[in-house]
Amino acid sequence: MQTRVTVPLEEFPEDGLSLTGEADGALFDIDNTGAKSVSPLGYELEARLYDTELLVTGSVYATFSLRCDRCLQEFDYEVAIDDLALSYDTKGKFEIDLTQDLREEVLLELPGYPKCEFSGLKCKINDIIGDFRLDKDPQSGVESPAPSGQSVWDALDQFPRK
Ligand SMILES: [Zn+2]
Repeated sequence: MQTRVTVPLEEFPEDGLSLTGEADGALFDIDNTGAKSVSPLGYELEARLYDTELLVTGSVYATFSLRCDRCLQEFDYEVAIDDLALSYDTKGKFEIDLTQDLREEVLLELPGYPKCEFSGLKCKINDIIGDFRLDKDPQSGVESPAPSGQSVWDALDQFPRK
C-alpha cells in the first residue's frame, strides 16, 4: 500500500486532477496505549492549479482505536473531514507531497480526552459509580473543593484499580 499522498505537477491537467485512494495508516506514526491507527488513510481529493498555486480540496477519513480516559475501554473512533482545503506554492517543484498535512489535519480531529460516548458506547464507569461525570460543568463560584473528603475526586477512590 502506498505510504505517501502526492500530486504530480508535470503536465498537470487544466481541468484539475482527482485523487482517490488509501494510504497506509502507518503514516500516522502513532501507536501508544491511548490511540492507535487501525485503518488506512482514505482520501477523495481534487487538485487544481492556479498559476503557481495548487489548491487541494476534498475529504479524508481514518479510523483509530482510542482508550476511554475514564474506564480504559478501547473503542473505534472514525475521523472524517469533508471540507479539507490546502494550498501550496508550486514554484520550482515537480510534485507536492500532501502526506504530512493530511496526517496533521486528521490527528488534530482526535479528541484530547477520549470517552466511550464519542462512539455511542456506554461507558462502563457509569455503571460502577452511577452517572458521575468527570466532565460535567464545574461548580460556579469561588469555593474550592473542601480538602476533607468532599472532593468529587473521592468517587474515583471507589473505583477498583487494575
Ligand atoms: Zn469509558
